[in-house]
Amino acid sequence: MPELPEVETVRRGLVPAMEGATITAAEVRRPDLRWPLPERMAERLTGQRVTRLGRRSKYLLADLASGETLIVHLGMSGRILISGAMPGAFHHSHAARDKHDHVVLEMSSGARITFNDARRFGAMDLWPTEAIETHWLLSSLGPEPLGNAFNEDYLAARLKGRMTPVKSALLDQRVVAGLGNIYVCEALFRAQVSPRRKAGNIAEKRLRALVPVIRDVLTDAIAAGGSSLRDYRQTSGELGYFQHTFRVYGREGAPCPTPGCPGTIARIVQSGRSTFFCPKCQR
Ligand SMILES: [Zn+2]
Repeated sequence: MPELPEVETVRRGLVPAMEGATITAAEVRRPDLRWPLPERMAERLTGQRVTRLGRRSKYLLADLASGETLIVHLGMSGRILISGAMPGAFHHSHAARDKHDHVVLEMSSGARITFNDARRFGAMDLWPTEAIETHWLLSSLGPEPLGNAFNEDYLAARLKGRMTPVKSALLDQRVVAGLGNIYVCEALFRAQVSPRRKAGNIAEKRLRALVPVIRDVLTDAIAAGGSSLRDYRQTSGELGYFQHTFRVYGREGAPCPTPGCPGTIARIVQSGRSTFFCPKCQR
């Protein structure tokens, strides 16, 4: 499932094709993805200029000149492909139509944007831009982990007294938006906090270390995604998936990468999801 850095990478890849460009044609090939698509969606998109392409948590937000915003969520298996002529002088020929190409946008930039989703856990909606934070998918989200509202005092206040494991608390989208399983594992490792520790019972120093560490793991991954953007121009035109090496995620049985630590990376299951961590140096 794409996490925040992957979605941000998709956004950055789409900006040159979409921002400032007009949707000259929109094709909506089915009435629903995970939920019904908005009524008259193609009509409401066609002819609209994209004034800004933003992101909130794992949602892409394309603001339109009409005053509506197109919300896009990739879900489990959603993919976005760019083909056609592109500003920046690279070109991917249009692939043959795939039965999972559900929404296709032709842009005045010369690019074609294709939303492909085999499992249809993705979602799209149109909502007034000025009230975007009231949309039901966005209204209960906590602050952006890379924004100023997410800071040490905020996190300390939100975790205070909580008896759930810290890993579950950090996956709670009301506490911080957009963090997923992989990057929570990586952040807890870097902060040397055990994923099993009760959220309200983290030593002050380690708790305060969590915020900069969360920012670092996301920033590193976004940087890796940026490198992948330079590569994809030679490859498939698919945005957002990139090779990234993790310190603990997926590394069960490997030696702990903390210098001097004799530990071995372990895997446990918490709330039905794999957690990777070092039982020696994460406390
Ligand atoms: Zn260790």
